Amino acid sequence: MGIDAGFDMVPRLSKGAVDRQNWQSFIKIIKERYQNDDLVEVKPNYIVFKAGEHPMLPFEGHKFLRFSSKISGSHAKGVEEYIDTVTWVAKANFGSRVRYWNEAGDEWGFYNWQEVNDSFKSYEQPDEPEIPTSIAQYVFGTDTMSELNLQLFGIQLVPGKGKGLVARFNIAKGKRILYEKPFFTAPNLSPISLMESNIATKLKALSKTEQQQFLSLHNNFPGKHPFSGIVKTNALPCGPDSGIGGVYPTICLINHSCLPNAHNSWNSDTKCETIHAIRYIKSGEEITISYDKGGPSDSRRTHLKDAFGFDCNCSLCSLPLPDLQISDARRLQIQLLDNAIGDPDRVMNKPDDCLADCHCLLQVLEEEYKGSAGVLIARLYYDAFQISITHGDQARASVFAERGHRSRVICEGEDSPETRKIKNLMENPAGHRNFGASKRWKTAKGLVPKGLDTDGFEKWLWRQGR
Ligand SMILES: [Zn+2]
Repeated sequence: MGIDAGFDMVPRLSKGAVDRQNWQSFIKIIKERYQNDDLVEVKPNYIVFKAGEHPMLPFEGHKFLRFSSKISGSHAKGVEEYIDTVTWVAKANFGSRVRYWNEAGDEWGFYNWQEVNDSFKSYEQPDEPEIPTSIAQYVFGTDTMSELNLQLFGIQLVPGKGKGLVARFNIAKGKRILYEKPFFTAPNLSPISLMESNIATKLKALSKTEQQQFLSLHNNFPGKHPFSGIVKTNALPCGPDSGIGGVYPTICLINHSCLPNAHNSWNSDTKCETIHAIRYIKSGEEITISYDKGGPSDSRRTHLKDAFGFDCNCSLCSLPLPDLQISDARRLQIQLLDNAIGDPDRVMNKPDDCLADCHCLLQVLEEEYKGSAGVLIARLYYDAFQISITHGDQARASVFAERGHRSRVICEGEDSPETRKIKNLMENPAGHRNFGASKRWKTAKGLVPKGLDTDGFEKWLWRQGR
């Protein structure tokens, strides 16, 4: 144990010119100040302070979340001086964005340690270098979005899977890997001949290169209706449960995993699909998304075979049987809890049970997805938000919305309509349509307790021990 202190950057810095310049001048001041200090070492991509827990400052400010260390105990000698000085210089450069905290004063960091540790891992690897435009044009045509995309991954043959996307650099959790316009979007029409002619019309409007790209995509339903076969195999729904699907030049090459490292999402404002890393992805690792709703292994296998024509050999499906059975039990539990939480009568009449189910679901998701449950966590926090706000509890609702917002940003980015929606609710929980349906848990928004330790805060949040 021990006491931690330091500061978090809230909100984190962007890659934009202003933040970048401010960070560069901040790093310059720190370098100059400590140039004759043997304990402060300048590495190729970051500065490390060799005291306490060796806090670091990366050269790329957008990667930075926290500068901190344990400040008590024999190993902590001298570190408090570094923390104080660096915090002071950071405040001079970034003002209130620098949030100092000290556990001795019952203050806690803004970010959770998993996010912070992920950010540390990204320090070593510099940002991807620029790719000459001529190469990008050769591979993708002249679409500037695709030129940007090319930087983070390569398209390679993946054993047993055909083409796939492989990370060319270490990719931080939350990073946007791809942002792509569809060739076209199309509804799932019946009879199939109608769908075929509808797609044929859309195909005619594409360039020759795009037509070739489309026709080279996998078709799990060869036969009389090849165009609709390709669409059925490759289309990603334009939003959850949408009957309209989009087909993409690059995104459709991303293979499936039942434990994916990336999340795909349709942005209804920009009419583009985004792919975000939902955990830290190492250079050389294949980028994967889930094509499936994620039930137990037998139902996943059947669905993946029928709809996409492959036998899943992902890291989850190839677990030894006893481990797979544990995973299956968790997946079943996830489905049951999800259904129970979504029951509006229960939300109204048994909110304590519903909230307890949300807490239980959170734990099962963490165990099953090992910290990369992605949008499932965002949805769970939104459910917890809705339960709280239905009963007038603005304090807890605002905390749940804040956590839901953080998860959405990771999965979809700041520009997603879903992210903006939850951000509005975070600022104004009473703006939700269910607010005031009951006054059972009525609290004001500002009544979030201060000074509780992590356990105490979680107990309050989930209304445990009442
Ligand atoms: Zn699998």
